Amino acid sequence: MSTLTQSNLVKNDNYWQGRWQSAAQRFAVTNPATGELLAEVADATPAQAQQAVSAAAEAFGSWSALPAAERSALLLRWQQLLLAHQDELALLLTLEQGKPLAEAKGEIAYGASYLQWFAEEAKRVYGDTIPAPAADKRILVIKQPVGVVTAITPWNFPNAMIARKAAAALAAGCTFVVKPAQQTPLSALALAELAAQAGIPAGVFNVLASTDAKGIGAVLTKDPLVAKCSFTGSTQVGKTLLAQCAEGVKRVSMELGGNAPFIVFEDADLDAAVQGLMASKFRNAGQTCVCTNRVYVQASVLPQFSQKLQQAVAALRIGNGTAPGIDLGPLIDEAACQKVHSLVQDAMTAGAELICGGQRQHSSGLFYLPTILTGVNAAMAVVQQEIFGPVVALQSFDSEAEVLAKANATEHGLAAYFYSRDIGRIFRVSEGLSYGMVGVNEGIISNAAAPFGGVKQSGYGREGSKYGLEDYLTIKYICLGGL
Ligand code: ADP
Repeated sequence: MSTLTQSNLVKNDNYWQGRWQSAAQRFAVTNPATGELLAEVADATPAQAQQAVSAAAEAFGSWSALPAAERSALLLRWQQLLLAHQDELALLLTLEQGKPLAEAKGEIAYGASYLQWFAEEAKRVYGDTIPAPAADKRILVIKQPVGVVTAITPWNFPNAMIARKAAAALAAGCTFVVKPAQQTPLSALALAELAAQAGIPAGVFNVLASTDAKGIGAVLTKDPLVAKCSFTGSTQVGKTLLAQCAEGVKRVSMELGGNAPFIVFEDADLDAAVQGLMASKFRNAGQTCVCTNRVYVQASVLPQFSQKLQQAVAALRIGNGTAPGIDLGPLIDEAACQKVHSLVQDAMTAGAELICGGQRQHSSGLFYLPTILTGVNAAMAVVQQEIFGPVVALQSFDSEAEVLAKANATEHGLAAYFYSRDIGRIFRVSEGLSYGMVGVNEGIISNAAAPFGGVKQSGYGREGSKYGLEDYLTIKYICLGGL
């Protein structure tokens, strides 16, 4: 933190109504790599959440009435400030979240790219005129912002999960209140500081850091002034929030858990497949909702693939994300480490073979060694649950039909990946996978131009792309009669 004490992007109060807001209680934010205390952040109360929502409701009238080009210009200024402060923001992110600095820099650029994308899309909210069934009538359709949007976000992308929701909401003309994860509020508060510097008006972008997720969540899903809630996090919490939103029939976007299959067919370029798997598995130490969770390798190429994979995994450098050349940082907290370890142990007890890893780097600390398990099967928890850690669980398969059935045998449906060079198979498998996103010969698929989101219990709504704006707009039909 020492390098950051001079930075005016380190904030420890909350932000709403265009002002920094203190609280009676504070909570500690620590560095998962070292345990070092980074900041004591104001712990917002449900009553304060109501104030923030009221501020957003007050700002909605003037923000939504601004010409789209003006909202667009403000979002672009915000985006440019993110890029101008990329190094500082990345360091802050690594300190509170743990991911390697290079990944953190990537996340800031990725978050900024949504601000740019939606700044551009803001100007293209077109309506329709529809031929009417009667000569004296005309049908017009206009699109309007839904109103006050609330967001609840996770710790794995402390900047980008907020930027990509706020970008779409603000572009559409909505105002926005976000509760970041308790582990990573500093990146959210830094975003608020830059929003203020960019000239985003008071009440338009508001941040409530808090340890009272339930209490704040209740306000953000139930307050009558709230029109919509956008959530990224676990399926379990998502279901609770959906039920709460149902009371007031609020709009929702839910980006929930995944259980991504990664399939390697025998006709694949195995080197490319290993590279894709490394990227999709070990990014953020395996802690993303689109990280590969289950790896299926066609039996004829399993020995060859497994050998190449072991070489790639052995080359990974694990350590404090601020050190140069690190590939893998710590897991987010003790509970995360224990969960990953118990999944590995459970698989081994049930007959899986440990190829490497399977323990922490040191007896204490949150660094979990990159791990490969083989002989895994569908009955094991490591296959059924989201691992959220650096563990590759290898299974073999014989036929295309068999692996497609196995890949789809989950309640989740976020991202799926497969490697093949057969064009017929590429179409069959892409269309047969019950997922919102499919990477074909590609392990990293998310970008602002593409629609990110899932099916089944991975949620609904899309973030990014032309579809992402629709989630924050409502359709109004105007009937002109007596013409
Ligand atoms: P993760 O496993 O990634 O921490 P969670 O779903 O637990 O996923 O957390 C995602 C976000 O949801 C965090 O901001 C967390 O504080 C918040 N959250 C957790 N429980 C609740 C709840 N009952 N109501 C509202 N928000 C919650």
